[in-house]
Order: sequence, then C-alpha cells, then structure tokens
Amino acid sequence: MSFMIPENISIETFRGCNARCIMCPVEQWAPPYGPMKDEVFSCLVRQMSEFKDKLKSVALFGNGEPLLDKKLEKRIVECKQAGIANVGFTSNGSLLTETRAAGIIEALPDWIVISFDSLDKEAYENIRIRLKFEQVLAGINNLIAARNRRKAKTHISLRFIEQEKNKGQFEGYVSFWAPKLDADLDELHYGKEHNWASGPEAFYGNTPCGFVFHKSYVLRDGSVVLCCTDSNAEYNFGNVMETPLLEIMNKPRWQAIRQLHASGKRSSMKLCSACNIPELNNEGVLSMKMTPSGTVFSSDTLTPFDNEQAKSGAKQPFTILHQP
Ligand code: SF4
Repeated sequence: MSFMIPENISIETFRGCNARCIMCPVEQWAPPYGPMKDEVFSCLVRQMSEFKDKLKSVALFGNGEPLLDKKLEKRIVECKQAGIANVGFTSNGSLLTETRAAGIIEALPDWIVISFDSLDKEAYENIRIRLKFEQVLAGINNLIAARNRRKAKTHISLRFIEQEKNKGQFEGYVSFWAPKLDADLDELHYGKEHNWASGPEAFYGNTPCGFVFHKSYVLRDGSVVLCCTDSNAEYNFGNVMETPLLEIMNKPRWQAIRQLHASGKRSSMKLCSACNIPELNNEGVLSMKMTPSGTVFSSDTLTPFDNEQAKSGAKQPFTILHQP
C-alpha cells in the first residue's frame, strides 16, 4: 500500500467529560483523565507542521469535553501559528459562558461543532445526562453572538443525533436554528446514532472504513490508536513522543489493517466486526450536513471534514431526511 499521510487528525486534548450522554461509552473510558501535557501537544504540532499542506483538518478533541481544558484557546492558537489549517473541536456546549465563548472565538478556530439534540428540555436532559438545557442553549447563543461580534469566519455546526427520545424533532430544530445561523458559514448536522463498535451483533458488514485510510487518532498520552471507538487503545500503534506520527501510521501493522479493509475483510478484526459505522455511512444516515437553508451538501462522515470542498459537491434536497 502507498505511504499514508493522514488528512484528518483527532487529538484528545482532554480526557473526561462533565456529561453522561446515554449513547456514549463515557463510563468505559479508562483513567488517567485530564488535559494532555503541553509537551505532548507541542510535539504533535511540530510533527503536523511538517506535512501541513496535506492536512485537511485537525480536531482538538477525543474522548472528552474539550472545553474542560483550560488551555484549549492556547492550543488553537499554537496550531494556527504553526500554519495548520482547518482547526476546530466538537463540544457539548455546556461551558460556553459569555466570557469563554468570546475567548474561544478570539483564538479564531476554523470550526466548532456543538452537539445539541433537542429543543425539548425533557428530551434533551434525558439524552445529555448531567447537562442543563437552558445553560447549553444560552451557551450556543453566546457562541454565535461572540462569533458575529468579532466578525470571525469560524464555522459553527449544530449537530443533532437522532435516537428514540428525540425522534421526529429535526424539522422543528432546523426551523428554530436556521434564522439564527450564518447562511454562508454555518451548518446543521443530522446523524443517526451508531454503536461505538460494541453492537449486539457479531457482524455488520465488510464495507471498508474510511477512518483507517484518512485519519489519525491520538490519545491524551500521545498514543496513536485505531479510530474514535478505540478509546482504551485496544489497538495501540505507538506514541508520538517516541516515534513520529507518520512513521507510526505506516508501520506494517497499520498497513496490514488497511489491506484487510481494502480487501473486504474488515470483519476479521474484532472491534471492526462489532461496528456499524461504515454501513450507516454507506446508507448516508450517519452524518448529513446541510446549510441553514436546508441544502444537503455532504453525507459522508468518513472522509475528512472540509467545509468548502463539501459545499461544492453534489447537492440534494433537504426533504430526503423525511422519507421513511
Ligand atoms: S469500522 Fe468501526 S471500529 Fe473499525 S476502524 Fe472503522 S470506526 Fe473504527
């Protein structure tokens, strides 16, 4: 297989979360928790800067809520000063006070995804356990206001993961948020719940997973693991403090895994066999991204996040979401 350079890198800048969302395996994340050490983060930034022209996005979050990291703003700036483009993070939005939202925007991240699944307080708080509906709603408004005030170009994406407790609510969600978002910058993001590679079935399919071809996942201590579902490093390919990331991504063991996926044998790997992410993605229901006006511009989550590239792609009418 050819030399792999990750186009998208996810970095666990903080391990641990203030929420206990019902669809998240948060209780299974093994300690230690807390922020990534500065030397690990800076080591990664140095390494990424060497292939920054090939990088399409860097996500400053992993198994945790990135706003629990008091240094998140500083880390965004560090990436940007190293010339790394398309830097952002996904958050539950609960810690976005006016001051924090302004500070985050001042660091000029390229994108921020907020996971917010319902406009119904009861449904929301039954999904996002420990979070307070009003606080998160205010946080999102603080973020939008701070971005608009600063005239920053930060893309804000609001993510709705459909599950039993919020079924059928997405239409109202779009109507509520669309007028509050920036038509050119922002996104609404719809997805169906996936099983975090711990599904009840032993087999979901052999669709090759885009994650192994495009992405790198780096845990808090610098370990490089298989993907977002590998929270406890079942597959640990090495540590960036000892071996450069590109060398790790091209180790024979990684190459063999990519070969397995490419040849339709993903299910021979235990973790991948119990995972429904590639099949949901194939059906186009894992991640649909749309403009505030409702134009779907991307429904593939396994290729790197690239807002501009995605928006120039094939467009489909929003109504596909409402088909049974
Ligand atoms: S199939 Fe699932 S477990 Fe395997 S690499 Fe993809 S996301 Fe990870």
